[in-house]
Amino acid sequence: MTKFSVWHDHKLYKDGELVTYHETRNASAKDIRTPIGIVVHGTFGNPFNIEGSISWNQRVDVRGRGSAHVYIDRDGVVHAMNRLNQVLWHAGTSKWTCKDGKTRKRLNNHFIGIELACAGPLDRISATTFRPKWDTRKRFKIDLKKAEGTVGEAAYPDKPEYNLWLNYTDDQIEALIGVCRALAAYWPTIDECITHHDCSPNRKWDCAPTLDMIALNRAVFDGAGYFDIVRGQASTPTKEPYVASSDVPGITITEAKKIMFDLGFRITDLNSPVVGKTVRASLLELQDDNNLPCTGHFDTATLELLVSGKAIRRPDPELDKLDTNTLRSRGSTTIAAADNDERIAITVPAVFTGVAGVDAIIKGQFFSGLSDMASGITQLTKPFGFEIGPWNLLIGCLVTAFSAIILVRARLRKAKRVADARSGKAPR
Ligand SMILES: [Zn+2]
Repeated sequence: MTKFSVWHDHKLYKDGELVTYHETRNASAKDIRTPIGIVVHGTFGNPFNIEGSISWNQRVDVRGRGSAHVYIDRDGVVHAMNRLNQVLWHAGTSKWTCKDGKTRKRLNNHFIGIELACAGPLDRISATTFRPKWDTRKRFKIDLKKAEGTVGEAAYPDKPEYNLWLNYTDDQIEALIGVCRALAAYWPTIDECITHHDCSPNRKWDCAPTLDMIALNRAVFDGAGYFDIVRGQASTPTKEPYVASSDVPGITITEAKKIMFDLGFRITDLNSPVVGKTVRASLLELQDDNNLPCTGHFDTATLELLVSGKAIRRPDPELDKLDTNTLRSRGSTTIAAADNDERIAITVPAVFTGVAGVDAIIKGQFFSGLSDMASGITQLTKPFGFEIGPWNLLIGCLVTAFSAIILVRARLRKAKRVADARSGKAPR
C-alpha cells in the first residue's frame, strides 16, 4: 500500500519519493507556526485536468488568487505546492471553532489545505450526462458512459439546489487519507479535517457533501477503514506509529533518544525510533533550551546538537527545593566551584594566622603564638567540610610547620645578612 510521509523539509513524499512539486506566489512569506487541522477543498473546475487547477492557483493576475498545499487527482496522483507549513491562501475569509474550544478566523494561518479534483455541483442534462454549474457557456459535459465515475446526490442544508456531484474516486479518497495521516503523524497538533464549507458557510460549497467527513476523520485519526465505515461494516483501528529517521551521519534516532534521556528529558520507547507525543514535547523543550527552532522533530540541527555533546541538560523543575549538600552529592559543578573558591579564601588567611603564631613563639610570645597557631590549624581544617580529627589536624600541623620552616629560614638568612653588613662582608 502507498505510504505518504512528511520529511524535515516540510515536503510530501510518496513511498520515499518527493511527489510532483509546483511553486506558487499565492502565499504569505510566513509559516504556519503550529498546524492544527486540514481544510479539504474541491477544485470546482475540470475534474479531469488537475494541472489546469494547479496552474490557475499559480496565476497572480486573477480575482480571488489562491492556492492549497496538496492536489489530489481522480486517479490518486498527488501534487504539492511550496512547503506544507507555509501560509498558502486556500481558506480565505473563514471561521471555525477548533477542538481546543477556541474560535479562529483566517484559517490559512492554522490549517493545511488539500484540493481534490472536483467538478463542483452538477446539472443533469440527460439520464447519463451532466454539466457543472460553473460551465455557463455549455462547453463541458460529464458523460458517465465515457468518463469513469458515478454521480452522488447530497446537499449542504444551506444550499439544497447543489445536490448532484461527481463522486470522488476510491483512489482519490485513499490518497487523501494517506496524506492526512502523514500530516497528522508529522504534526500531532493536527486533530481534525474539515471542509471549506465548514469554515466558510454560505460562501463556499467545497469539498462537496458527498464526502463522508465523519468517516474521513475516523480513518485519519483513529486508523479506521473509511470504506468499511461508509459501507456500514465494522473496522479494526490500526494506527501506525510515526517512525523517524536520521539525516545526520553518526547518530540514529534511537541513539538520539538515549542521549536526550541521559540529559534528563522524558523519553518513551527508548529502544525504538518511534516518535510519539511525549518525545515531541521533550524535543520542543530541548530545542527551546538550546535556542534551536522549535520543530518538535529530530531535524538536522537537533541531531547535530545531540551528536556534538553540547546540548544543555534539562533543568530539573524540583531544583529550587534542593539543599546545597544534595546538589553537591549530585555532582553540581557550580557548587564545586563555589566550594573551591571558599577553600582558597579561608586557607590563605588561615596559613597567615598559623605562621604569625609561629613567628610570635620565635619572638618569645609563647602563649599568644600557640593560640594563633591553634586557630590557624583549626581554620585550615574547616573548608574541607569535616570536623577536626587526627588526620586534618596532622595536615594542618604539617602546612603550618612547612610555612614555619620557610619563615625560620628567611629569619636566619636575614640575621646572616645583617651580620655580613655589620662586619663589612656585604655592602652597608
Ligand atoms: Zn475551497
